[in-house]
Amino acid sequence: MEIEVLEKDAQRIKFMLKGTRASLANALRRMMISEVPTLAIEDVIIVENTSPMYDEVLAHRLGLIPIKTNLEMFSRPEECECKGTGCPRCQVVFTLDKRAVDGPMTAYSGDLKSQVSQVEPASPRIPIVKLSRGQHVVLEAYARLGTAKEHAKWQASVASYKYLPILELKNEKCEKCGDCVEACPRDIIQMKGDSIKLVNEINCTLCKTCEEVCRYDAIKVRWDETTFIFNVESTGAIPPEKIVEYAGQMLLNRSKELIKQLEEINASAVIKG
Ligand code: SF4
Ligand code: SF4
Ligand SMILES: [Zn+2]
Repeated sequence: MEIEVLEKDAQRIKFMLKGTRASLANALRRMMISEVPTLAIEDVIIVENTSPMYDEVLAHRLGLIPIKTNLEMFSRPEECECKGTGCPRCQVVFTLDKRAVDGPMTAYSGDLKSQVSQVEPASPRIPIVKLSRGQHVVLEAYARLGTAKEHAKWQASVASYKYLPILELKNEKCEKCGDCVEACPRDIIQMKGDSIKLVNEINCTLCKTCEEVCRYDAIKVRWDETTFIFNVESTGAIPPEKIVEYAGQMLLNRSKELIKQLEEINASAVIKG
């Protein structure tokens, strides 16, 4: 199995996974979506809230703010030495103290003050609550690690994949009518002079519209069932390449654990036999 990175920026990564099967590609996708842990606010103590927003809604909005997470720094509460009672190893405390003194204003995610300097909201411009003149919000918020299996607020990314497209243009049959050029929603088939060219085939959605409109059976759409194009978009909590790395490592660990358990079952069956 091999990975080739096609595009990458701070928020997204597009890569090709070669030499595997859909079952494994899908397991990796599911790991990236629901098993890579991130920090999110779980408990909120509202000291004062004179805004029009109910305390519960305020707490819910805080929970949905993506928080930059360095997984090497934190443990999950249930695995922590404190047994989940809350300590710096498994919990980060944020405070918010905002008063609209001179006129209406908005409290943003950037107004949350973190107890740990490296841990902060992924974006400082996420609105939390609008305050009219004289209104005041004071609270303490406790963030902890969790996964999207528990709640979507801990989801690290959205991840999708498709098979690698293979487009075959049969020049001997093509009448250069241009119907497929018109029909392709991704501008992959283009008329250059008096010939038909395929451009950026990797962006093909495998919709097969070109095949359907061609009256001469001159174009065929297929795909490579051992190669996958992945698109992973991070919420901002963890860099996208790290999400892929963690998900791959977790998948490997789970596979080893499964093999170990199967070997144990096998060994006990042999003794009993
Ligand atoms: S629709 Fe068929 S015949 Fe017409 S340009 Fe496309 S491939 Fe060629
Ligand atoms: S399958 Fe769809 S996206 Fe791909 S080349 Fe044909 S029309 Fe374009
Ligand atoms: Zn702890």
